[in-house]
Amino acid sequence: MNYHVMTLFPELIENTVNHSITGRALKNGIITVNAVNIRDYSQNKTHHVDDYIYGGGSGMLIQAEPVWLCYQDLIKKIGNGNTRVLYMSPRGKTFNQSIANALAHNDNIIFLCGHYEGIDERAIELINPVHMSIGDFVLTGGELPAILMMDAITRQLPGALGSDDSALDESFYNGLLEYPQYTRPPKYEGLSVPEVLLSGNHKLIEEWRRTKALEITKNNRPDMYERYIKK
Ligand code: SAM
Repeated sequence: MNYHVMTLFPELIENTVNHSITGRALKNGIITVNAVNIRDYSQNKTHHVDDYIYGGGSGMLIQAEPVWLCYQDLIKKIGNGNTRVLYMSPRGKTFNQSIANALAHNDNIIFLCGHYEGIDERAIELINPVHMSIGDFVLTGGELPAILMMDAITRQLPGALGSDDSALDESFYNGLLEYPQYTRPPKYEGLSVPEVLLSGNHKLIEEWRRTKALEITKNNRPDMYERYIKK
């Protein structure tokens, strides 16, 4: 999987993906991350990429030209792979686990990150990306959403998780939230690990986990629970 991030803050991307699961996936060649600075495509002397918004209103907007030039150059370099282009945008569909699973089948994903008040609509029209949001709130830029999505997608790639980690029994994978988990010691501050987990009886452990997963999903996310039991 090759990630390409069109951004005004490439160092933010580069400094973050080098850690933990994405860092290991990078080292093992499961992913590559190419952060491209939109500012490098500015055609003016001062290398500014933003300007005032027509019609008034507060704030600045990223101009269409550097974004469109940056995108065309990137596409030229990537070639004809199976490429998905995502615009990080509060207007988009909300990202979730099944979208992460589906995106993991691409060869290339381009993340277009806005900043200021966003990007001139003509660049969006020319590129025609899928708009993708991470929730009903406004962030300062698209970099954190892109990092978040890269993390979730990478976890779905073969070999990205170590042999001790598994995406299969994590929250959302099977439509339920995860059951409670414990590690050593068996007793801490007067609180004991549920006895069944120490029993070695795998059938009973599975049953306990399923009951807890159902209970937690019903209490924390009744919407998910309803969907699950209707399946
Ligand atoms: N003026 C825009 C609006 O009201 O929809 C918000 C612009 S926001 C300050 C700057 C950039 O951050 C956006 O262009 C987008 O790339 C990113 N962004 C902000 N909130 C986001 C969210 N919830 N999901 C995805 N990207 C977001």
